[in-house]
Amino acid sequence: MHRGYEQSIQAFAEAKQYIPGGVNSPVRAFKSVGGNPVYIAKGEGARITDVDGNTYLDYIGSWGPLILGHSHPNVLKAILDTAVLGTSFGAPTERETEMAKLVCDIVPSVEIVRMVNSGTEATMSALRLARGYTKRDKIMKFEGCYHGHADSLLIKAGSGVATLGLPDSPGVPSSTAVNTITVPYNDLESVRLAFETFGHELAAVIVEPIAGNMGVVPPQPGFLEGLREITRQYGTVFIIDEVMTGFRVARGGAQDLYKIDPDLTTMGKVIGGGLPVGAYGGKREIMEQMAPAGPIYQAGTLSGNPLAMAAGIATLNELGKPGVYEQLEARSARLAEGLVDSARKVGLPYTMNRVGSMVCLFFTETPVINYETAKTSDLERFKKYFHYLLEEGVMLPPSQFEGMFVSTVHTEDDIEFTIEAAHRAMKRL
Ligand code: PMP
Repeated sequence: MHRGYEQSIQAFAEAKQYIPGGVNSPVRAFKSVGGNPVYIAKGEGARITDVDGNTYLDYIGSWGPLILGHSHPNVLKAILDTAVLGTSFGAPTERETEMAKLVCDIVPSVEIVRMVNSGTEATMSALRLARGYTKRDKIMKFEGCYHGHADSLLIKAGSGVATLGLPDSPGVPSSTAVNTITVPYNDLESVRLAFETFGHELAAVIVEPIAGNMGVVPPQPGFLEGLREITRQYGTVFIIDEVMTGFRVARGGAQDLYKIDPDLTTMGKVIGGGLPVGAYGGKREIMEQMAPAGPIYQAGTLSGNPLAMAAGIATLNELGKPGVYEQLEARSARLAEGLVDSARKVGLPYTMNRVGSMVCLFFTETPVINYETAKTSDLERFKKYFHYLLEEGVMLPPSQFEGMFVSTVHTEDDIEFTIEAAHRAMKRL
């Protein structure tokens, strides 16, 4: 029985007096689903409990990092054991090298890696590196892909395929926006056209190898390969943003799954095990342009933080155990199948997109292959579905344009519980 949201409502009202919009990251405010955000008191395994005492099966997983669920014992132990030795030094520690070695071992294209504190920092730094390395200013990104909030990346498409970008937020200078070319995802023809015009000015192409910020949108066969080929041809740095997909869709990330060899890879989320971490790495020749090895500047007071390294190393080690990704795949496949069955039985239009433990049900019959088609989903229906599931004790990401994240601690029973709850929710739609 759901106990209501009284404490959460009070908590949000108070927060709004001291924090802009009451939250430290916009999506948490439930703006796209409406209603009052749920304030969390604690998390354990696959479940979170709110301040009113309601417990939910959690499919947000801190937006991706918690692939092992909440408070995994080995991650907690690593953090606690490390904390008593000191929380930050601003001097190198051996743990940073241990982490770098692990990443170089696990991620096929990464020869050398720099740790930062968020995905935003990772992509921002990778772009600076690509620009410094190529001595070019323009970059290409894809509509509906999100790479953090650096100025160059908060850009929407201009009209037409090969046009210069427009700021997506006040405060992003139009002089910055004109250096970002935005093209539709999965559309190699538009990429080729844009390259014909701007190819020799393009420092980098950055792409989510599986788009996870417009729901879940897998790359069509040949898309990533085509990007690899054309960037090589024009001397443009190819950056795969694996902040969401890294260590999730396979231990070696989407590049391992699809056998793509980018020049640079950006990482975050899982690599920090729930602590604030990002990383960028790749070809040695490019990466060694970074200070102090080279002239391009980037730094961080807390970069390589001991607690973050400890949590990340513990997480990556857990993921190295046999059978982890097979189990994630089986549970996620069952979840997707169950949701599809329910939608079909109830007679709702649906499209299911899934890669590994990234799962997204759209309320549309249109195949979702890019941002335009993602937007055909019935958002009003999603809102109701979200809130009905919340009442049932299942926490989805509060937006149609985000995937559900399955973790290693979602049991078969948890998945069946979710499918049954979703079935009841769909019947009410
Ligand atoms: N890249 C991708 C693909 C992401 O999904 C995100 C965050 N959702 C980012 C970059 C930015 O990461 P952060 O929020 O840690 O700055």
